[in-house]
Amino acid sequence: MKQALIALALCALLAWAVWREPVPLVQHREVFALGTLLQLSVADPLPPPLLSKVQAELRAFEKRWSPQGDGELARLNALLASQPGAPLPEALRAGISAARDACLSSDGLFDPAMGALVQIWGFDDERNFRSEPPPASAIEQALSASPSLCAAELGDSIKLTGIGARLDFGASAKGRAVDEIIALLHRHGIRNAIVNAGGDLRAIGRRPDRAWRIGIRHPRGDGPRAVLASLDIADGEAVFSSGDYERYFLHEGRRYHHIIDPRDGYPATGSQSATVLHHSAELADAAATALFVAGPDRAADIMQRMGVGLWLLVDAEGGIHASAAMRERLEGLP
Ligand code: ADP
Ligand code: MG
Repeated sequence: MKQALIALALCALLAWAVWREPVPLVQHREVFALGTLLQLSVADPLPPPLLSKVQAELRAFEKRWSPQGDGELARLNALLASQPGAPLPEALRAGISAARDACLSSDGLFDPAMGALVQIWGFDDERNFRSEPPPASAIEQALSASPSLCAAELGDSIKLTGIGARLDFGASAKGRAVDEIIALLHRHGIRNAIVNAGGDLRAIGRRPDRAWRIGIRHPRGDGPRAVLASLDIADGEAVFSSGDYERYFLHEGRRYHHIIDPRDGYPATGSQSATVLHHSAELADAAATALFVAGPDRAADIMQRMGVGLWLLVDAEGGIHASAAMRERLEGLP
């Protein structure tokens, strides 16, 4: 009897403790993927098996889209090294076709067929990191040898205008992955969440108390100046940035970073950072890279061609350029 009473008291205590525990408005989970710490923020009940599904999908995505290793893209690249065309695996078709369209609409400023140049610059892999630029002759050779994805014929197979292309979707695959994870969450009944891949993100729904709110990183800021501006994001919107602060080395006072201008094969010089807001994370990612390469002079034209109405660019001198619609959305812009 006494034992039963003690058990009852313990149960009551436990129930009270559970009742007292505030239910968090938003739950956060972290997964290491796509070369970054990917954070899920969910404002709906999150069944634990869903997190494993997210992880499994990300692993499969990484393998499929990695230019090296033994996934579909790596095997395609191995064929394209010595022949201009090859069968196009079903799993890569939609992504490569979207990238070809973005290549065309960006007037070739976003071109994922430049993997050989990215390799020469050593930005393909941390182990190849350089401390000085590669010889000009190597850059010229890779540039003249690389066929553009803009001119690719796509169907059951891919046909390029020459051999030696190395496809590298480093500038759009993260966006495609974020779209896929959002779709996965949606299929499992989640209506309110953010998928944030190291600052590049897409949201659905809202927090229970207010809209999702995010900060845009200042390309040269730290401490209290780390955030350039902030904004509320609506259901389905993605915000992606490209910056010269992600991967770079300094040589004789110059910064050499990982966003290459396909017109001359050197890191683009007009910008410090570029941010795009769009409903497709995949397009936002590609467009942010194109906007960075475009720089302030061509920004408005290239964004219009790509169907992007909301964009922000910090130029090489730190000057701020933004579409009128974006300025209206941003808070705290200097
Ligand atoms: P991040 O994802 O690092 O924030 P980006 O989305 O701009 O930045 O992608 C940069 C990566 O894309 C580079 O590391 C390289 O692999 C590839 N890349 C570089 N320049 C271009 C370009 N002009 N067009 C397409 N891909 C590029
Ligand atoms: Mg990008």
